[in-house]
Amino acid sequence: LSGCSSDRGGDTGGGEATGGESAAAGFEEGATIGVALPQKTSENWVLAEELFNDGLTEAGFEPIVQFANGGVSEQQSQIDAMVEQGAKVIIVGAIDGSQLGTQLKNAKDSGATVIAYDRLVKNTDAVDEYIAFDNYQVGVLQGEALLQGLAERKGEGPYNIELIAGSPDDANSTPFFEGAMSVLQPKIDDGTLVVPSGQTSFEQVATQGWKAENAQKRMDTVLSGSYADTELDGVLSPNDTLARAALTSAKQAGKETPVITGQDSEVESVKSIVAGEQYSTIYKDTRKLVEESINAVKALQAGEEPEINDTESYDNGVKVVPAFLLEPIIVTQDNAAEVYAGDPTLEELTK
Ligand code: BGC
Repeated sequence: LSGCSSDRGGDTGGGEATGGESAAAGFEEGATIGVALPQKTSENWVLAEELFNDGLTEAGFEPIVQFANGGVSEQQSQIDAMVEQGAKVIIVGAIDGSQLGTQLKNAKDSGATVIAYDRLVKNTDAVDEYIAFDNYQVGVLQGEALLQGLAERKGEGPYNIELIAGSPDDANSTPFFEGAMSVLQPKIDDGTLVVPSGQTSFEQVATQGWKAENAQKRMDTVLSGSYADTELDGVLSPNDTLARAALTSAKQAGKETPVITGQDSEVESVKSIVAGEQYSTIYKDTRKLVEESINAVKALQAGEEPEINDTESYDNGVKVVPAFLLEPIIVTQDNAAEVYAGDPTLEELTK
């Protein structure tokens, strides 16, 4: 490790972290960069690990890329250790966006820049930038896809649907759900959509830890409790892992395949979409997200401000975090071949 430099890097007075206005002093080539990833709850995170290791190494940095499969306290100590090893930038995909305030403040105090990756960190000013796909827009696209799929595959409404949300500790789960409900709530209100379980609040439909088994268990209960003589027409699912869990539950309950949304373009779900089962997913090209993050590291190294394209959307409770947001793309059977053209893993699945 080339870390362990006693050079604590331009402590140019005032560790204030407002706006994107960190006193850009730059740092040495070959510096240590910490990347704290959450748990392996979907394929995008696994891919990110590889891309960060390769990309940062190629750009001449010394990466420390770690998962925290043991949970929040493991992630906290990993970040502390990265700071101790002299990391100049800490890139963090938080397990629990509200539990890293102390560690990230330490990072800032050491002179490091903190970038929230994919997931916002909340209730702290110790975060300089947020790089992510537009999460609210992900939800909007999911809500629209559900309505479109119902009209295409289930004839005339009203339609019986159920809602699933992500993990309550992940800051992304609320914007995903709120974006989707901005489209679906008016249709629930006017009677086009019916939710037989009656479970429509985020708290009622959230899935602890993004775990498939938790979503499946809840769907099992809902289906046996509210669907004895009722068809399940559609399901709002926030990602592919949970969509496949809900499909398994529906199948085991003897239901016809519901129209179901997803996110992440995971291999099994892309196959399912091509086969006409899962209705939609979202393409968030992890290669682009990692590339943007590495571009930000390079800019910081050179003493420049990383590129920002949004200064109003992501209020973390303490500050509006300057963001670089990428556009998510909705994928259905109709456009899969077009969207995945050029993707090294997904293109061939559409042939
Ligand atoms: C990511 C999603 C992913 C989920 C579970 C979220 O924070 O944005 O892409 O499906 O975590 O891993």
